[in-house]
Amino acid sequence: MGIEFRGVTKKYPDGTVAVDDLNLTIEDGTITVFVGPSGCGKTTSLRMINRMVEPTSGTILLDGADVRDSDAALLRRGIGYVIQHAGLFPHRTVLSNVATVPLLSGWDKRKARERAAELLETVGLPAELGKRYPAQLSGGQQQRVGVARALAADSPVLLMDEPFSAVDPVVREGLQDELLRLQSQLGKTIVFVTHDIDEAVRLGDKVAVLRVGGRLAQYGTPADVLRH
Ligand code: ADP
Ligand code: ADP
Repeated sequence: MGIEFRGVTKKYPDGTVAVDDLNLTIEDGTITVFVGPSGCGKTTSLRMINRMVEPTSGTILLDGADVRDSDAALLRRGIGYVIQHAGLFPHRTVLSNVATVPLLSGWDKRKARERAAELLETVGLPAELGKRYPAQLSGGQQQRVGVARALAADSPVLLMDEPFSAVDPVVREGLQDELLRLQSQLGKTIVFVTHDIDEAVRLGDKVAVLRVGGRLAQYGTPADVLRH
């Protein structure tokens, strides 16, 4: 699914301009990384795609349809979203955390649990970890569960906000490799936020460099961005 930002600006009520006239086309099936220092508008940009944040002006299109239109709204409900500390439900087992998503879309309990077990395997977690609670997993494992839960939405779009920032560098590299492997299988449109230029260059088909004030400073392939 393609995503297009057309003249998108977000000004928060206190006057902060988080994103300033963003124009960007994200192609279907690619990984686009938003990179830049803290406060440059990366998270705000991401959250406007699934309408957690509404733009002050401008339009965001999903496959050509305004995200504010009803069809797109249906779609958005299912957009997978992964955040830094996974955001798992602490009082539910790992399997149940993932199964919640298909359950909410009306799957019966047995099918939802089967689907959740498949997804844990997809992200490289052994089946027996499904019985544990999130606090009984390492940070890296929790992030994998977060990815499995986001994939359970079965959406063509996956939004990832600093998903690997809280784990140590070695684990992070493993997670990055896994994401690239997953992407080559699943072909989703992934929008990934990081403050780490090395991570951006490693993962991105395209890299969008933002600067404080929310302006797009550069956009292109990793090679283009490194050249400048
Ligand atoms: P990043 O993800 O690059 O760190 P954010 O999108 O979180 O950037 O924030 C961009 C700017 O908007 C920052 O100056 C931040 O303080 C401000 N901001 C973010 N959320 C809010 C909010 N809810 N209200 C007011 N200002 C906000
Ligand atoms: P990773 O490199 O995957 O992030 P760690 O080195 O942090 O993993 O953890 C190694 C092993 O210890 C993992 O199999 C994990 O399940 C287990 N583990 C980590 N923290 C806990 C915990 N609080 N309770 C039980 N097992 C844990």
